[in-house]
Amino acid sequence: MEIWIATANKGKLEEFKLGLKSILATHPDSQIFSQADLKNFSPMPENGETFVANARIKAKSLKAMKPNVWIIADDSGLEVTGLNNLPGVHSARYAGPHARDSENVAKLLKMMQIRNVSPRTAQFKCVLVIYNPEGTEFIFEGELKGTIAQKPSGLLGFGYDPVFVPDGETKTLADLGPGYKIQKSHRAVALEQFLKTLS
Ligand code: IMP
Repeated sequence: MEIWIATANKGKLEEFKLGLKSILATHPDSQIFSQADLKNFSPMPENGETFVANARIKAKSLKAMKPNVWIIADDSGLEVTGLNNLPGVHSARYAGPHARDSENVAKLLKMMQIRNVSPRTAQFKCVLVIYNPEGTEFIFEGELKGTIAQKPSGLLGFGYDPVFVPDGETKTLADLGPGYKIQKSHRAVALEQFLKTLS
């Protein structure tokens, strides 16, 4: 079975590859690709107002070029309770259209300081829109609750990982690393549901 991941985000792709490893046990002929493996791929603009809408845009963009394979698209983001759930669907571009992860994190910490946000509760959300080779759509959702640290810590992961401390932990996701995320992240929770439907 051919699985295509609709993302240009290297951090997400690594997590998907790790998370989908178990498929190889049950479907040894499986191969995992991403949109980076296609020449001339230009995704449609991500202008949806919800995670589902944006994940569907990504999935359909790739499906238009690869119609008869499994497609997995993820839209995800960080919702900070005290910022009215921002940055939310704007997480990737919070500090500007081409913002780097470090700039988004810096803006988040600044906004929380300006607004004097307390408590610092937040959650990561992930929505997967998946098409099977016949074109049937499946939607799975995952969440990871936690708090926003006062300053970044850790070198692993991507995005807001250096400032996100999951509930029950004292370290950030960027300290805890891929071993933690593959088990417990919002993406892992959503992916686990997909894997169950395959078994
Ligand atoms: P998307 O590619 O439009 O879904 O952007 C998602 C953005 O949300 C990423 O660029 C990150 O800023 C943030 N994000 C989503 N998932 C994670 C995660 O697992 N760790 C850290 N940041 C994440």
